[in-house]
Amino acid sequence: MDGSLVRRGEAAAAAAQAAYAAAAAVTSRLSSAAPHDLCVVCLQPCATKACACSFMHEQCAASYANSYGTPRCRVCSGEFDSEKLSKRPRDNDEDAAISERAHKRRREREAYEHGLNLEWARRVAPCAAQILFRHFQHIRNESHHVQPTFELSFDAIVLSLLHSGPEYLDDLSERLSDTMSGAEVDHHLRRLHLIGDALSSPERIGEECLSEFMRLFNAHFDRRLLAGGHIPVEAAPPVVNPVDSTPA
Ligand SMILES: [Zn+2]
Ligand SMILES: [Zn+2]
Repeated sequence: MDGSLVRRGEAAAAAAQAAYAAAAAVTSRLSSAAPHDLCVVCLQPCATKACACSFMHEQCAASYANSYGTPRCRVCSGEFDSEKLSKRPRDNDEDAAISERAHKRRREREAYEHGLNLEWARRVAPCAAQILFRHFQHIRNESHHVQPTFELSFDAIVLSLLHSGPEYLDDLSERLSDTMSGAEVDHHLRRLHLIGDALSSPERIGEECLSEFMRLFNAHFDRRLLAGGHIPVEAAPPVVNPVDSTPA
């Protein structure tokens, strides 16, 4: 390699370096104080240039174009090529924040529903025990069987209240209305239907509601069973078999 080639190579390298330095200076000057690997709009790290002078994210270039009414850089007049631009990283965080907020709302909603269900259990379970007790008492009187030998499940109780005929629901409203307003009675009957619809997914009903309902139901049911023959015979209720829904 002779001296002139070396010198030419050096000159080319120096020229390239000078050009690079000039470009870098322009870039840093034009993109204000932002370092060149930061988006000039959101000032977050950015690997893509929107024009000759400025780094921008896709969303940032769009909002820049939006605010200035043209998809061109106001400094270098270069047109933004949004297809080449990277996405703004904060959007991932925003997505995460949005889904976290949705999650929180869902949890709050669930806790709220569980609270209403628990309140429902406290008000309805004693009445349900009385209604079903009367049903079994009536069967006992007719068949001379002492008492049911099976345990009623939450599902069975709810379904029998809902589907044995209108009498149980009427009976329930009547018993509830002894201690609450008509609006509250309606509220608890509506919730009975909601809970009936949710039986296949108990997590929607809530563990507390289920256990509190059964605790109160059994307490009231057993107490009245233990009272045995001392329970005043009430007017025979319209009794329906909760198992097959045919009139007894
Ligand atoms: Zn940006
Ligand atoms: Zn530019």
